[in-house]
Amino acid sequence: MGGADSNVLYDYDFLLNRLYQKVPPKSGTAAYEIPEPEIIRIGSQTIIRNFRDISQRLKRDPQLVARFLQRELAAAGSYDGGSGQLVLNVKVSRRVINQFLQLFLKNYVRCPTCNSIDTRLERKGRVWILKCDACGAEQPVKAF
Ligand SMILES: [Zn+2]
Repeated sequence: MGGADSNVLYDYDFLLNRLYQKVPPKSGTAAYEIPEPEIIRIGSQTIIRNFRDISQRLKRDPQLVARFLQRELAAAGSYDGGSGQLVLNVKVSRRVINQFLQLFLKNYVRCPTCNSIDTRLERKGRVWILKCDACGAEQPVKAF
């Protein structure tokens, strides 16, 4: 029966290969890379130089991501659309910024049902809903 066994294995690999070829690559099912924040600290201010790039990677309006960081850090700040930089009126490390960006990704970008990042954030008055374009799930999220 040795020959039969190797046939089974062959068939399994063959089917597996076919399966992978048929399934289109999904975005965001594995670890999703956010650009490393480029931080400059000047006095009591922290500037994130590549904030626009980070927001684009998160697929969200920089103003929205900025608002989230300002709320989490309890600090004022201003996003400059010209330079793409965010200035925060607080001293904060890159590690902490990274943690909040990961939190934003988890709570406001990644679909909790299928893990896709092909999502949209829709606001209906005071209610915010995370809508997934990949699986169609809708999830209310905490407004800020
Ligand atoms: Zn989904």
